[in-house]
Order: sequence, then structure tokens, then C-alpha cells
Amino acid sequence: MSRSLLKGTPNNAMPDPSHQHRIIRVALPVPLRKLFDYIGEAGQDYPIGARVKVPFGPRQLIGVVIEQSHQSEQTLAKLKNAGPALDDDSLVPEEIRQLLSFCSSYYQCPIGEAYSTALPKLLRQGEAVSLPKHEYLQLSQEGLGLPVGGLSKARKQAALLSALQEQGKLDKTDLKRLCISNSVVKAMLDKGLLNWQSEQLPTIAAGDQQKQAPLSLNEEQEAALEQLRYQQFACYLLEGTTGSGKTEVYLQAIAEVLREGRQALVLIPEIGLTPQTLGRFQNRFKCPIVAIHSGLNDKERLQAWGMAKTGQAGIIIGTRSAIFTPLYRPGIIIIDEEHDLSFKQQDGVRYSGRDLAIFRAKKANIPIMLGTATPSLESLHNAIQGRYEHLRLTRRAGAAKPPAISVEDIKQKTLIGGLSQNSLDSIANTLAAGNQVLVFLNRRGFAPSLICHNCGWVAECRHCSARMTLHKAQHQMRCHHCEASMAQPQQCPDCFSRELISQGYGTQRSEETLQEHFPDTQIIRIDRDSTRKKQAMHELLQEVDQGQPCILLGTQMLAKGHHFPNVTLVVIVDADGGLFSGDFRGPERMGQLITQVAGRAGRAEKPGKVIIQSHNKDHPLLETLLHKGYHLFARQILRERQLAYMPPYRHLALLHCDARDGLQAESFLQNMRQWLEQYAPPTPEQIYLGPFAAPMEKRKQMYRYQLQFNCESRRHMQQILNLVGQYLDQSKLPNHIRCSLDVDPLDMM
Ligand code: ADP
Ligand code: ZN
Ligand code: ZN
Repeated sequence: MSRSLLKGTPNNAMPDPSHQHRIIRVALPVPLRKLFDYIGEAGQDYPIGARVKVPFGPRQLIGVVIEQSHQSEQTLAKLKNAGPALDDDSLVPEEIRQLLSFCSSYYQCPIGEAYSTALPKLLRQGEAVSLPKHEYLQLSQEGLGLPVGGLSKARKQAALLSALQEQGKLDKTDLKRLCISNSVVKAMLDKGLLNWQSEQLPTIAAGDQQKQAPLSLNEEQEAALEQLRYQQFACYLLEGTTGSGKTEVYLQAIAEVLREGRQALVLIPEIGLTPQTLGRFQNRFKCPIVAIHSGLNDKERLQAWGMAKTGQAGIIIGTRSAIFTPLYRPGIIIIDEEHDLSFKQQDGVRYSGRDLAIFRAKKANIPIMLGTATPSLESLHNAIQGRYEHLRLTRRAGAAKPPAISVEDIKQKTLIGGLSQNSLDSIANTLAAGNQVLVFLNRRGFAPSLICHNCGWVAECRHCSARMTLHKAQHQMRCHHCEASMAQPQQCPDCFSRELISQGYGTQRSEETLQEHFPDTQIIRIDRDSTRKKQAMHELLQEVDQGQPCILLGTQMLAKGHHFPNVTLVVIVDADGGLFSGDFRGPERMGQLITQVAGRAGRAEKPGKVIIQSHNKDHPLLETLLHKGYHLFARQILRERQLAYMPPYRHLALLHCDARDGLQAESFLQNMRQWLEQYAPPTPEQIYLGPFAAPMEKRKQMYRYQLQFNCESRRHMQQILNLVGQYLDQSKLPNHIRCSLDVDPLDMM
């Protein structure tokens, strides 16, 4: 565990002379990088992986037993007594314990926090695992004594009686189907003729679990599936253009795994778990499927966890954190849209669900498949190097053809709502032909800045180094980086001029202009503002599903996983910001986004067309992307990364330090760097950069500084990170300084 790596186990640990005390070492939900020792109650069993309640200062905490021992680094007299274990058996199975201890050492997070991240809330609070039961009605002894055709005076009771005499048991669904009301059931329960029974769901059994025939595969899909070996670890990168039938490949691989009585774990991006996606799995398979998503309440989450662990569920689909779900018999892990940023947690334990999944598959000796149309450069690099097996689907499945892509040079052109005349004409033609249009603009709000025409004053957030966005409908300025908002000013605070002008386009502004331009067309705006309410997204998408001509206008929320069969034109309003982003991953992101959005066009029988508006039509990267496709584009940026000493050729970690006073943050990092350099001197294999101000220097009233580590190998990196952990443990951080470590950061801002 991380602690012993950092300090080493002291040799002077006193063995307990009596050997009577049993020491348990417990992971507790506190931000300290260590296990805590307690004395176990005599005669009590403390299985490893079981929960235990222990005193911690004035509080009682629930932790997980990680080790048992007869000795402690501390003097026995100082150790407190643990309460009894809360579980008779190991609640957290070894597979998950290994995963969490890897997570803790790789991401340098306290082991207790890793457990907190992994376990459902109710388990952390000490509740027992609850499993959904199948409940049904049965005749009681007395009821069984009734003759066939009994209860004939009460017609409805007679109907229920005869149904039970025929079928033995009836559950709520059966009662509904038979139109038997609660009052009838209650009357018979009161007479003692019936009782409710419940039974556990069975564990999944080997055998065919398909209730719907699989599609017959095309050659590429077949070749991909043929390469898959189910009985051993390998990482497969399934690189398939949008609509090439990756999901069908997953479904057939899963069918194979289920046939052997094993389970499949499927990770999808945060907003990728649409009813559409889930429906495809449910329509195909008979076995129980649990979906782990943000809409579940605590009890449902616990049940899903339990069903996965006991093997009652055959397929577990969830977002990032589902990687910590225990499995009864793991068979395969699938990561859909593996390039998606939401697989990386951006606060707390900054783990990558994808990378942990690869570790987990390796330990469990099962295959893992990473699917995407736009591989992350990390995964592509691994595939090119031969560490992953590269499976490719280059053609759209079924009848759909790839869309025709054109670039519209908008330099010096008049724009209406952000759109060129040519784009507007194409939209009009598409609508007139009875089809739908998708307009992609990755900026919500009305306008990204409000400027004084007289003196140049700009509305900025008081708490962040960022401009405030105008939300015109609410007459508000809002910061998209913190909660701050203020009334839309009518006057410049500096020169009192009333001539304030909004600059740039957000989705709300485009919506307004498009509506003026197409007064008879429905415009469906999808962004974080329009989908704040629960179900709102679902309702908006249902409108699109009606198939009427409409303009679908939205941010990157539209780029993921949705299937819009009637969209034949996609207009990307403003695509090339990523070329000049402050983040080295900007171009990669841009390529992924453009490719994914373009992939929404013409997914069914109707051919699609994509217009990309750009100020940099001739930029070589954009040209490669558009003329040669994402794969060659990605290879081109790989070469640039190699020359720049950047991932995936090097390993990166960022230590963030935020403080009210920027100088304090900077000097804290400066001191740390000096200390680190004594033990791990800078060399070309391990480079220190900084401390420097983050690209976004101030956020939520905190000044943000970074120290960056850039290493040639994981080994070098782990060495430095262990030292960092040690330094953070030893130095007492003042209250107003916050440090956090991001290993393999995806966001440098
Ligand atoms: P992806 O996951 O790569 O975006 P999907 O699996 O969603 O692609 O497939 C896109 C469409 O093509 C779906 O409507 C799917 O039913 C259809 N499809 C996939 N594979 C086949 C096949 N072998 N034959 C016919 N249609 C297919
Ligand atoms: Zn002014
Ligand atoms: Zn702000």
C-alpha cells in the first residue's frame, strides 16, 4: 500500500509478546495516506474486505479491513478497540481490493478515499447489501384447502383463486395483467387464504441469453470478432467510423461471454446512457441487466451493486465509477467511446475509469475492448506499438453511406447568427426536402462577452480569470467557471457609456437569429441550460424522433451516441478553436469533436452532408482531418507530440496548488521542487516544469499554480510521485492552500 512504499515499514515494530491481540489494519474515509490499526475484539472474526466500525477521535467511522496482523507500528497501549465486523464475509472481494490498492498507489490518493469512491453510499453508512427479491402471491394452507370453483359468491376473489390454483404463484405483473385489484388481494389476505412470498433471483446460468437474433455481420465485423479470444487478457482497440456497427460487435461478444455463464461490464460516457442504448441491450438479451447511472437513488445503486456481485445480473452498464462494481464471474469489459473525457474523474480521486479497466481486465485475465470512431492518442499509440490489438471497421454498416464533407471559408464573410449565407441556403434546402438539420455550436448562453463600445471595458468574473457570458433571456451575466452571476449592466461601470455590445455567438443567440430566419421551423436547442431539468433532454430528443423537419441546435451534448435518422445536414459553426487552444490536447479534441458531430449526419438510408465553417480553411491539420480522415490526422499529431516530448511518448503529472494568495501557492510549489530535486535530480528522463500559473490563473477566487512532472517511464514517474506524496504528508498545509495531484491529466487548464 502507498504508505509502506513511502516510508518503509519500520524495523523496530514491536511484536506483541502475548500474541493474543489481533491487530486489524483498516482503510478509513479520511484524507490521510495510511491504514489505521485497531485491536480486534476477542472471539470476533474480521475477514479481510469486511466493514468494521471503529472510534476515530470523537467520531465513529466505518472502514474496511485491509490486513490482519499481530504487530503494529504503534505501541499497543495506544491502540483503540475496534467494534465487531459488520460483515460475516468479505464484502469487498479481492479483485476490487487489488484494483483499489493499485488506484491508491498509482494516483497517490489515500486508500480510504479510494474505498469511499468505490463503495455505494449505503454500504459506506453501514447498511447490509440488499438484493431485489422476486415477490409473489401464493395460497396459504387454508387457501389450498378450497375446492376448484370455490368462493363463487365473490366473483373477483373466485377469479384470483382459480388463477392461483392453475399457476401456483402470481407476481404484481401477473395481477395487473389479470386486472385483479389490490382490494381483492387484501380481502383474501385478511381471510388468511393467501400470503406473499419472496425468493432470490437466480444466478445467471451458462447458455444462450439472446432473445433476439443477432444481425448477420459484415466482413469487417466478422473479422473483428474472430480475433477476439475470450479466455485470456488482451486489450482490443476497435476503431470503427461512426455507424460502422461497433455496438453490434459488442453485443455479439457479450453473447459469447454470457453463453459461458460469465458477465460483461460495459462503461459508457456520462451522457451516453440513453434509453436508446439501454434498449438495444435489453432487446437483445434475456438475462437481467443493471444500469448504473446518476438517476439511481441510493437503494437502487446498492441493489445494482449486489446483483453484479452475486451474479444475478449478466450485464452491468454504467459510467466511469461502475468500474468499481464487483463481478461474480467477469467475462469481458467494454469501454464505449474510449476517448471520452468523462472517463477521467476531475476531482477527488482523479482516476481514469478506462485505465483502471485495463488493469482490472489484466488481473482477471479477460479481454477488454475499447471502441471508438476517434481513438485517444494514447490508445492509438498503444495499438500502433502492438500493445493493443487493432481492429478496424472502415465502412458504415447496413445501407448508410458516409456523409459528404465540405469546408466553408468564412473569413471576411457576413455571418447571420454565426452562419454564412451558404450554410443558411443549405439549411433551407434541407428543410424544404422534409429533412432535419443539426447545427453544432459549442458555446452556450447568448454571447461569450459584453464589451463597452466607448472605452473597451469587458465584463469579467470577479472570481475567475474569465469573461462573463451574457444570458439575455434572464438579463444576466454568468460565469461558466463558477457560480457567479450578476444583472446585465445597462451602463459601462468605467465610462458610463450606454453603448454595450455583445460579441460572439452562443447557442441562445443563434437560436434567436435562426428563428427569425426560419419563422415556421421548430428549433430545438440542446445545451446545459435547456436540459437542466430532469427528463428535459429526453423530451427534446423525443421531439426530434417525431421526424418533422426541424433545426437541432446544440453543444457537444449532441456529439455523443445519439442516433438521428432524419438528420441529413450537419453544420459545424465554429470548429477550429482547438487549433489554437492553450491545452496541448486542443487539436486532438477538435478532431474528435468534428468527426463525432459529422458522424451524426445521414446515419440511416438518407445520405448526409456536412458543412464545416472555418477561419482556417488551409490549416494543414484541418486539411488532413477533412481529406484523409481522423486516423491519419491522429497519426500526424502523434508525430508532433513525439517531437514535443508530450504524451503518449512521455508520462505527465500535474500538481495543482490553489490559494487565496497566489504568491503563497507559487512559493509552496517552489519549495517542494527544491526538496524533490535533492532526491530525484532533474534529468532528461525526469523533467520538472514550473511552478507557473495555470492557463486559467484565477478560478472561484483562488489563484492556481502548477508544478508539472514529465517523465520518460512510469518507474521514474512513480518515484517522483511517491516523493510528492511524502512531502504533502509531512508538510502541514495552511488551511487556505489546497493541493491536488493529477496523474495522466486530461485537462491542463
Ligand atoms: P456504431 O456503434 O459503430 O456507431 P451501430 O452499431 O450503432 O454503430 O450501427 C449503426 C447502424 O447500423 C445501426 O442501426 C445498426 O443496427 C446497423 N448495423 C450494424 N451492424 C449491421 C449489420 N451487420 N448489418 C446491418 N445493419 C447493421
Ligand atoms: Zn466604457
Ligand atoms: Zn467565475
